[in-house]
Parts: sequence; structure tokens; C-alpha cells
Amino acid sequence: MDGRLLLGKDGNAAEIGHMTIDLGDGFQCGCGGKGHWEAYCSGMGIPSFVKSWITSRKIEDLESPIIDMAMKDEITSKHLFEYAKRGDELALKIVEEIGRINAICFANLINLFDPELITIGGSIALKNPDLILAPIKRYVGRYVINRIPEIRLTPLGEDIVLYGAIALASTRIVSK
Ligand SMILES: [Zn+2]
Repeated sequence: MDGRLLLGKDGNAAEIGHMTIDLGDGFQCGCGGKGHWEAYCSGMGIPSFVKSWITSRKIEDLESPIIDMAMKDEITSKHLFEYAKRGDELALKIVEEIGRINAICFANLINLFDPELITIGGSIALKNPDLILAPIKRYVGRYVINRIPEIRLTPLGEDIVLYGAIALASTRIVSK
């Protein structure tokens, strides 16, 4: 933020995956909380989201191999995006909904921080840039009050986490 890492009082700032997006009971997040963003849209969370999406909607008119995979708890994020890339109608609908949730959370961040640029990393985005970026760009305008910043894939590829660690390690933290 303004050329520096935003660390927070305990170094835990920007745990954005744990923003609550569900007023109901919500899906279980890896942190122990419920209804957090990454419980819906992360690689780990997507399989439960797919199953819930399928069981909570009327989809009799849609046939897709992912229904069976989801019911048997065999579906992975990779499967979902592979089927979406092949044009599977159900997979595309679910990917679109993931994109809308991402757009809401991006809008929350844009409204909080008014950033110039948001870059996205992680293997799902890096392997499926169009399926991840397009719905975010399509929906984010519905939810922001600030000017929409540039949103694109990170140019740092799979090593983004390593660069973040280096940035943190090279930051002089002054304790109070
Ligand atoms: Zn969480």
C-alpha cells in the first residue's frame, strides 16, 4: 500500500480469503470459520461449492458428468475448469457463479483500498485465466463505488508466494 507492505498490528493484514461473504451458516473454511471467501472459491473449497450448487438448484435440464463426480465427492477444481473449457454447460454456470463471488470480494477490496492494480496468482487463475478474469471483470462494476482498477494475472507466475516472502523478509519491521 503506497509502496509498502500492509502488515497490520500483528503482521496478519490482508487475510482477504477469510472475509465473510455468507450471512447464513456458510461453508466450512480451512481456518475453522464459516462462510469465508476461500471456502467458496479456492482450490480446496470449490469441490464443496460445486456439490452444494448442484444439490440446491433445479438442474434437471442439464446433463453433465460433473453431477455424478460431485455426488461421489470425486470432483476437483481441476475437473470443473477442464469441463468448463470443453464447453460443459453446467460447469460453465458454476464457474460463472464463482466469478460473481470473486467479483463481489474484489469490489469489497476496491472499495476499501482503492488500488491502482490488482494482480491474481494461484494455479487455478494461472491455468484458467479467461475463466477466472472474464466474470470478475463482467460483474465487479455492479458492486464498486470506486473507479475500477486494472485487474490482471500476476506477471510473477507460480513463484508469487516466494516473492511475497522475500518482500516480507526484506521489510524492516519496527516494533513498538
Ligand atoms: Zn477462513
